[in-house]
Amino acid sequence: MQLSKQDLQERADKVYDTIIVGGGAGGLSAGIYLQRYLLDSLIIDKGKARSFWMQELHNYLGLPPDTQGRTLLKHGKDHYLSLGGDLLNGYVEEVVDKGDIFEVKVKIGRQNSTYSIFRAKYLIAASGIIDNLPFVDDMQNVYEYAGYNLHVCLICDGYEMADKRVGVFGRNERSLEVAFSLGWFTPYITLFTQDMFEVSSQFRDRLWEHEYELVEKPISKFVGENHQMTGVQLMDGSVIKLDAGLVSMGSQFHSGYLSRLNLQTQGENLVTDFSCRTSHPRIFAIGDLKLGLNQVVVAAADGAIAATGIWRDIRRERGVKRRLDVDSVVLAG
Ligand SMILES: Cc1cc2nc3c(=O)[nH]c(=O)nc-3n(C[C@H](O)[C@H](O)[C@H](O)COP(=O)(O)OP(=O)(O)OC[C@H]3O[C@@H](n4cnc5c(N)ncnc54)[C@H](O)[C@@H]3O)c2cc1C
Repeated sequence: MQLSKQDLQERADKVYDTIIVGGGAGGLSAGIYLQRYLLDSLIIDKGKARSFWMQELHNYLGLPPDTQGRTLLKHGKDHYLSLGGDLLNGYVEEVVDKGDIFEVKVKIGRQNSTYSIFRAKYLIAASGIIDNLPFVDDMQNVYEYAGYNLHVCLICDGYEMADKRVGVFGRNERSLEVAFSLGWFTPYITLFTQDMFEVSSQFRDRLWEHEYELVEKPISKFVGENHQMTGVQLMDGSVIKLDAGLVSMGSQFHSGYLSRLNLQTQGENLVTDFSCRTSHPRIFAIGDLKLGLNQVVVAAADGAIAATGIWRDIRRERGVKRRLDVDSVVLAG
């Protein structure tokens, strides 16, 4: 059920089989599988998943290509709740390993916040990442286009940019490398440094060979209407026309609550084995937070894999006891 403040005390006394941090594509998928394995799960989600900003999900089998991320999340949440899973809107601040259980400290409510501790045997970290966006004085101007034709993911939206004039916005020379992969889709590429970093002569030579433009002046704003960006205006007032943009400015990882657990990472991504298990045997990581492809289909599949791994562990630990209990009830009846 969707938990409210009134339910908290009762739930705080319980030990869940699994707590899932994050109710995006990965977390909801894991929750659905766990509930269908007749395990108790709690999803804690602060909201505004990365998939929430996805205006159109073009590449997911079986869904119309104009499906919005928020539609996917709503269906996922309804499905999970219909299976009896618990869902709490809250922010996980810390996870403490107490040996055979985890204590998960949650801040509830932005104003007049309260704190609760929930307990579980297993933890799934499904809290994702969020993209850094180009900086202009009025950030509302960026939000107007981000996720529409100001893209953040080449794999998701390279197809949408085919043969278009695309601006690539980076935060260092390395992040601009994405332009060469974008070249698969379109040759009309302009790279923007936003006056934030220097570009080496070797990199300039490569741009010249590919006939890509380089703009090093700062941007004052994006121009366009109805969420369709048509170019950028520079600080000197000049306008560069574009049909789309690709932001490659890195991301913030939502993993602060795990900091005391010393999990193995590569860069900021959590490292997992084939079953999405981290270097801690009872912590699984799924979706964008773990090493791999940042895609909805991968996050959903990770959720299934992690939940199945946890079910297998619990089954081995408990044997067939749960099923025997149910059978004896049925026989007695
Ligand atoms: C604009 C845009 C377009 C995209 N287009 C596509 C596309 O077309 N196709 C595609 O496959 N992928 C696309 N993606 C990528 C896709 O959205 C992600 O790969 C996917 O959402 C990852 O799912 P996730 O469950 O790992 O993370 P998320 O969906 O980000 O969910 C993580 C959840 O955890 C919550 N959370 C974080 N920290 C905490 C905390 N401490 N406590 C509680 N909750 C927390 C977050 O608020 C969020 O709700 C797009 C992404 C963006 C931004």
